[in-house]
Amino acid sequence: MSRPEFTVLARDPGTAARRGRLVTAHGTVETPAFMPVGTAGSVKAMTPQEVAGLGYTMILGNTYHLALRPGEEVVARLGGLHRFMGWERSILTDSGGFQVLSLAERRAIDDDGVDFRSHLDGRLLRMTPERSMAIQAALGSDVAMAFDDCPALPSPPERLREAVRRTTAWARRSRDAFAQDDRALFGIVQGGDDRALREESAAAITAMGFEGHAIGGVSVGESAALSREVVAATAPLLPAGRPRYLMGMGTPADLVTMIGHGIDLFDCVLPTRNARNGSLFTSTGRILIKRAGYREDPRPIDPECGCEACRLYSRAYLRHLFVAGEILGLRLNTLHNLYHYARTIREARAAIEAGVYAAFRDAFLARIEAGEDEDVQPAPAAGAVAGDRDG
Ligand SMILES: [Zn+2]
Repeated sequence: MSRPEFTVLARDPGTAARRGRLVTAHGTVETPAFMPVGTAGSVKAMTPQEVAGLGYTMILGNTYHLALRPGEEVVARLGGLHRFMGWERSILTDSGGFQVLSLAERRAIDDDGVDFRSHLDGRLLRMTPERSMAIQAALGSDVAMAFDDCPALPSPPERLREAVRRTTAWARRSRDAFAQDDRALFGIVQGGDDRALREESAAAITAMGFEGHAIGGVSVGESAALSREVVAATAPLLPAGRPRYLMGMGTPADLVTMIGHGIDLFDCVLPTRNARNGSLFTSTGRILIKRAGYREDPRPIDPECGCEACRLYSRAYLRHLFVAGEILGLRLNTLHNLYHYARTIREARAAIEAGVYAAFRDAFLARIEAGEDEDVQPAPAAGAVAGDRDG
């Protein structure tokens, strides 16, 4: 079996959007693609069969969480992460760097790696590029990520510079430690909100021969407008012939916008986590299902949605389940949000194929702009994003 291969099938004439195909040992991933987050070996509240049934072909697994519990050696002895969790399609694992820096306690970072205490039991552990590669190899993911230094925003310029320098050195060590087999290794570009640093990081990382490239260090405390600006400026710096992955970011409006900048892969906790908080995405925004106004509302979450929750149940029933703390409510909410993301991406792919992506994007964003967002929250302060990539 050879390394995963990426092919660009079509380019939209009016934007930078592309339709592509990533083929791994576990199947074909049509891009643009969204990866549900399977934090600790499960996409919360869904079975793998349900996730596949929604059309998803790749999910994300968290190296940090799986290494702490149950431990990558346990997963390896049970046949690797695919077999362990019963997911036969592709898996991308993150490097663990984000959680080590955001979730673990009493961390100390130096040029060699990061000392940290497990947030589960306080054990003192060390993560390095070599260790991250060994864990991801034991898990057997199809796409592994290089170990990077991902600072929150805002950070002082010297911290952003240090992170770029370290990310470059760690990318080289990750590549050198990565086994030559049928898996792919993606490099990560850092640089915060500093354009010159992003350019420097992109030049260094893309020179190392990775099979794909990610934009890291976005959605780490800054405004959504600034995130979009950073992605728009960084995406064109990444080689057009390899997949471009935007890490840990995305409302449906973000996805549709970023696809127009040439992003191929996304992951985000929003559809699953929001679902468990009763925040449901619709064609025109978001609704909070717990609101009293839905107590006797016979309408579905979204009249345009074809998911099981919308076909069979009313807002009134889903509100009742949520308020009563019924597990079924969390499952149906998650099912709906993941269906909504899958549908959005599917429509985006069709629009690229038809060469009308700009019109699709503008209409999609206009409906949300004109609609109502019941889940308006202030932007999180820096430091308040701890563990924000954990589904
Ligand atoms: Zn639905």
